[in-house]
Amino acid sequence: MRESLDIIIPVYNEEECLEQTISRLLGVRENLFNELDVNFIFVDDGSKDKSFAILKEYAQKYPFIKALSFSRNFGHQFAVSAGLDYAKGDYIAIIDADLQDPPELIKDMYAKTKEGYQVVYGKRLKRRKESAFKKFTAFAFYRIFDSLCQIKVPTDTGDFRLITREVADAIRNMPEKHRFIRAMVPWVGFNSTPLYYNRDERFAGVTKYPLSKMLKLASDGILSFSTKPIKFIHILAGFLMLLAITIGIIGLFWYNGFLLCLISGLILFIGALQLFAIGTIGEYVGRIFEEVKNRPIYIIKEKLNI
Ligand code: UDP
Ligand code: MG
Repeated sequence: MRESLDIIIPVYNEEECLEQTISRLLGVRENLFNELDVNFIFVDDGSKDKSFAILKEYAQKYPFIKALSFSRNFGHQFAVSAGLDYAKGDYIAIIDADLQDPPELIKDMYAKTKEGYQVVYGKRLKRRKESAFKKFTAFAFYRIFDSLCQIKVPTDTGDFRLITREVADAIRNMPEKHRFIRAMVPWVGFNSTPLYYNRDERFAGVTKYPLSKMLKLASDGILSFSTKPIKFIHILAGFLMLLAITIGIIGLFWYNGFLLCLISGLILFIGALQLFAIGTIGEYVGRIFEEVKNRPIYIIKEKLNI
């Protein structure tokens, strides 16, 4: 039986990109035609523009263009998760809708699976025309994640990758509500290899990842894969105790107005650190709260060709 590939494309307000993206993806499909049946699964993450109307038009023309539409904007990671839930292919690729990741590389990724890899992830060499702020925050995040989390996420990767069905099945069995797919993939294991590439400029439109969404993704990533921030609170507490004892001893033998100011400043500072510590624990407690509520992670309003 012919093997098949599903390409998952999360979409949020991408009306300016979609036609070009579909045309490039059709080219990829044609190039892979001798080896694989290729389907596209677009997941419209509650777009407010014409994205879903464009998808509808194409879905009527091509039965292999499938689409899901969310009832509202749930977020990129949930759109990819929905795509994974509905993908039935032997191979599954994930790619953004803005053509920053060249779709043509999916064929190279597929070729690498023939060398015995179940995960082929895109690793960015250059990121053309992205802001210095975006590049710096991404650079810093991957290094902080690496130092805090046991699971190794290859630096400078996104969700652009190709995985086999067994990897997708393993991820589908992870019911967690806070999803950081680029770490969930290495968590499930299997053989993986990078495919190096230069990240292009967005084809049109602006980023759909403002700072607030980037921070949420970063905190979900770290807090879902590490408890080290809680452990740091113990180290911090030990350090503050030592400091308090030292100041107490100094105060006993050497007292003047300066010391009084220092102590009152320190008390405020320690108060702030305590709030920080409570806040850190709160982040974990809040996540437990969301897990136990067990709400669905996305709601589908409409399905096309699925
Ligand atoms: N996206 C999404 N939901 C969101 C934000 C983004 O489905 O809430 C999609 C978006 O349409 C794109 C991909 O996720 O296909 C990556 O977003 P974007 O290119 O804006 O992020 P950047 O490359 O700037 O980090
Ligand atoms: Mg992009």
